[in-house]
Amino acid sequence: MLNPTEQTRLLQMESSFSSEFGSAAKIAVRAPGRVNLIGEHTDYNDGFVMPAAIERSVLMLAAPSNTGRIQVHALNYNQSSTFSIEGVQPTGDSRERWSNYLRAMVWVLQGEGISVPGLNMVVQGDVPLGSGLSSSAAMLVAAGLLLSEAAQSPLSPVQLALLAQKAEREFVGVNVGIMDQYISALGKQAHALLIDTRSLEYEAISLPVSGVSLIIADTSKRRGLVDSEYNTRRSECERAVEILSQHLPQIKALRDVSVEQFLSLQQHLPEPVRSRAKHVITENQRTLDMAEALKLGDMQRCGKLMNESHQSLQIDYAVSCRELDAMTEAARSLQGVYGSRMTGAGFGGCTVSLVADEALENFQRELPRIYQQHTGLEAALLVSKAAPGAERIL
Ligand code: ADP
Ligand code: MG
Repeated sequence: MLNPTEQTRLLQMESSFSSEFGSAAKIAVRAPGRVNLIGEHTDYNDGFVMPAAIERSVLMLAAPSNTGRIQVHALNYNQSSTFSIEGVQPTGDSRERWSNYLRAMVWVLQGEGISVPGLNMVVQGDVPLGSGLSSSAAMLVAAGLLLSEAAQSPLSPVQLALLAQKAEREFVGVNVGIMDQYISALGKQAHALLIDTRSLEYEAISLPVSGVSLIIADTSKRRGLVDSEYNTRRSECERAVEILSQHLPQIKALRDVSVEQFLSLQQHLPEPVRSRAKHVITENQRTLDMAEALKLGDMQRCGKLMNESHQSLQIDYAVSCRELDAMTEAARSLQGVYGSRMTGAGFGGCTVSLVADEALENFQRELPRIYQQHTGLEAALLVSKAAPGAERIL
């Protein structure tokens, strides 16, 4: 189901497709970006996350071409790329890096014995690039859905998510968890998903339809240094498991350690490993608590958990930055704001705030003003309901 913006975008893409290739598209798909409400840096610790798909997506149109090649035009970049289906390799051309996401999915599907046909394609997205709303997952999930449909080898949404994750890890070369691809493939309108990243089981948690809104605010600070910091955090978490497993031999990941166990064993952990473990273990609990609070409609509690999550990410996990702190502080200073936190990996990107509907207008006016006063930067606000996951639309 397309929202009104997507309908307009699709029409424009159809006309681009016919002027580019001289015929009509036969297949179209959409895959959304996402916002994580709570459960940050828990996914690679086998823990819980709670993302929702957003009303921003990547759309792809295609028609079979019998050329043995994929010829794709990216409207966001106004660039085209052509590559042969046989022996796909990453392009070394940095200007065309976006097309690696398609190559990656072709490569992964081939690994599954699915033979992708030659295709003409047009791609367009309105998930901001590199803002932490996971345009990369939207791109990969859209590509996976489109290519598998074109190959007449439909995938289940979970398979689609797993293959998109594999593509990002093994071909694009970013060591991602499963959250982004999973929510893009399985998102549900008006719901967040509480996902157990170990078992991949999930529960759809209904979000309030009125009374409150979730507002995403982009700090316009692009993430820097993320990869090396990310790898450091991962190894610190592994170190914590190593040490804690001397006392708790059954644990496999920080997900297996309760807050009580952590409190009684924390003296065995050196800093900064102790603080990192504290974040992950308490964040896991907060994510479960958030699901309960949402079910009870207890917005005060939801907001409090979001604030605590931010503080934990800022102090214990040390993945926030001046801009994210300034934006969440500005949000909390405004009336009718239940809570506010950074979302995504950190070091820039977006915040998410839970705001009472009657305070929304004031929030939208005041937040960018205060943020600019403190940082000199522009804030971009994005209001979105929880959207459905990826689907074929033509
Ligand atoms: P994020 O996932 O946080 O948005 P990433 O750096 O992981 O940031 O992924 C962004 C990259 O994904 C872009 O640089 C581009 O290569 C690719 N991408 C995302 N959306 C599109 C799009 N609409 N068209 C082409 N490439 C896209
Ligand atoms: Mg990404």
